[in-house]
Amino acid sequence: MVDWSGGNDTGPTPRKDAIWIGEAGQSPRYLRNRLLAEEDLAEQIETSLTKGERMLIGFDFPFGYPAGFARALTGQADPMAVWDWLTARIEDAPAANNRFDVAGAINRGFGGASGPFWGNPLKREIDGLARTKAGYANPFADKRACETRARGSFTCWQLAGAGAVGSQVLMGLPVLNRLRQRFAGQVAIWPFDPLTAPVAFVEIWPGLINAAVRAATGNGQIRDAVQVDMMARVLAGLAPDRLAAMLAVNAPEEGWIFGLGLEQELTAPVSLKPPPLRNDCFALPPGVDWTPVDQALGMLQDRLTPVVGIEEVPLMQAAGRVLAGDLVALRSNPPQANTAVDGYGFAAASLPEGDVVLPLVQGRSAAGVPFQGAVPAGHAVRVLTGAALPKGVDTVVLDEDCAVDGGHVAFRGGVKPGANTRRAGEDVTKGAVALQVGQLMTPADLALAAAVGLGRVPVFERLRVGVLSTGDEVVEPGAEAGPGQIFDANRAMLLTMIARFGFEPVDLGRVPDDRSALRARLDEASQRVHLVLTSGGASAGDEDHVSALLREAGAMQEWRIALKPGRPLALGLWEGVPVFGLPGNPVAAFVCTLIFARPAMGLLAGAGWSVPQGFDMPAGFSKSKKLGRREYLRARIRDGRVEVFKSEGSGRVSGLSWAEGLVELPDGAALIQPGDRVRYIPFGSFGL
Ligand code: AMP
Ligand code: MG
Repeated sequence: MVDWSGGNDTGPTPRKDAIWIGEAGQSPRYLRNRLLAEEDLAEQIETSLTKGERMLIGFDFPFGYPAGFARALTGQADPMAVWDWLTARIEDAPAANNRFDVAGAINRGFGGASGPFWGNPLKREIDGLARTKAGYANPFADKRACETRARGSFTCWQLAGAGAVGSQVLMGLPVLNRLRQRFAGQVAIWPFDPLTAPVAFVEIWPGLINAAVRAATGNGQIRDAVQVDMMARVLAGLAPDRLAAMLAVNAPEEGWIFGLGLEQELTAPVSLKPPPLRNDCFALPPGVDWTPVDQALGMLQDRLTPVVGIEEVPLMQAAGRVLAGDLVALRSNPPQANTAVDGYGFAAASLPEGDVVLPLVQGRSAAGVPFQGAVPAGHAVRVLTGAALPKGVDTVVLDEDCAVDGGHVAFRGGVKPGANTRRAGEDVTKGAVALQVGQLMTPADLALAAAVGLGRVPVFERLRVGVLSTGDEVVEPGAEAGPGQIFDANRAMLLTMIARFGFEPVDLGRVPDDRSALRARLDEASQRVHLVLTSGGASAGDEDHVSALLREAGAMQEWRIALKPGRPLALGLWEGVPVFGLPGNPVAAFVCTLIFARPAMGLLAGAGWSVPQGFDMPAGFSKSKKLGRREYLRARIRDGRVEVFKSEGSGRVSGLSWAEGLVELPDGAALIQPGDRVRYIPFGSFGL
């Protein structure tokens, strides 16, 4: 799947709006200009033909123009004649091309009309090519039949501006045409040729899977790369009969967008199977000794993407779930202008100067039972809160400000036009995005979604997080404990934290310090969960089997983070499932979960990256802090000051229980005196 570009070469650094090629089973490739892309595609076609394979290549630009253009330009109603016409005239080099001049020449060919092409971003004027759409006349339709059905698609006549596709067509068709001639008879152009040749060029439009792409695009990832990758995986996964059904269209002149009208089928496979994490997602830059907390967090933020599928649930079941797509308002809120109070409505423009007495019309407008007919100028009508404003009414005066006598209402002058009314759509307008993908649905969000008419919403599957304790010394709380043994404090704590974060905890039990037992447990877990948290055995010692196993599996990194409390974290993938090897000490396990695992889980769950809200508060303690690491102290607020626990020992579980939040001390050295401001993050900010 190819994301094309009509622009010039901007250098070797992968960027958006250049050319991206996605291929099922491979990482997306960046190609900095069309010349390289043409060669790359030619090589791939060559290879496939040699191997006797069939190949479908998708390009994200129109293969044809609106009806009538081909004949007007070339004398034949054949899209291939347009391809040939352009191939003979378009000049292309990495740093420059003549697309605007060709467009100008085409426009001039239609008798000097200012169309069909428009958009000239160059410094120089081009005869016949309007700079903007203003004052422009198009002898042809603005859009092809398929584009009128594809919401958000652009017209092929627009050559400049964000999202414009016109340049891609002019610069793309000659490339496809050359490839078609180079492999003569072996390439079919869809939907113009029968699909009997081994290679097919197919017009695609990633806009069809927009929501799924947005949901899967991690922070710092290039969307163009994500979408060609996703498109390729989707197409490769389609059942042959569905693929055939999608290719069976009849559009001999204008062409068509693959999958248009069948978007559900295009996104369904994505929903079931999100892209796997890359094997190197936990790699640290070489030579780093103690990684600062922010750098470690930045790496997680850049590399982790959602690993959960998408489902649709009734609104009532959406609380606590993460939105998997934008929610677009089906209706405005409020849907019609209505009154905010009980009172009397009239047209403000019909009021006389000074105090007012208006005759009342018969009837009233109540919520859900609107007044039928219009209120004549100089008249008023009874209205009740929430009622639609009748025709002829734009202003309401409050009951309490009125005197009513028989058929008249009297009130003081000076009522502001529009007073006590709500405009249609003043809160949310129909078609606007009411809630964005990644939103964790709160009760208020449910109210908003309901108000704009949504009964079902797309959400990410709940992230399943397994918790495993390791260590020969660890026994089940309440069981018999011999000398040297301790009770498993971490598992209950971590499982509960996960539930509080809104994820689904999965108890993976305990395993002794035994490599084959641990391996078996991880194998089993990787089938059931999206993420595993282990505690204990994460360092590099003899009995640190979690790190040893992950290292053996080839996808393990020991993260030595400049953080107290916390020792090395072992991060790795087991059968593609991320494993966070937390320290065994409950205090360190707790802090590392809040600081590292929690935001990482947010990304994996589709909720995006989150930073806990902290508050600067006066210290109620003194401390001299060393340079070179971040510290978190168990803390709480009393009498407007931050207290810290009497001991910083990382085995002191009672201090965790005592605390109601953490004090975050920055990486530099610090001498803290009572009254100095320190950053306090309540546990509630972490979702606990
Ligand atoms: P480790 O990370 O395995 O070297 O363990 C560090 C410390 O944490 C040791 O004192 C362990 O006994 C203790 N520890 C390990 N796992 C747990 C657990 N599940 N509950 C309480 N303490 C633990
Ligand atoms: Mg241990």
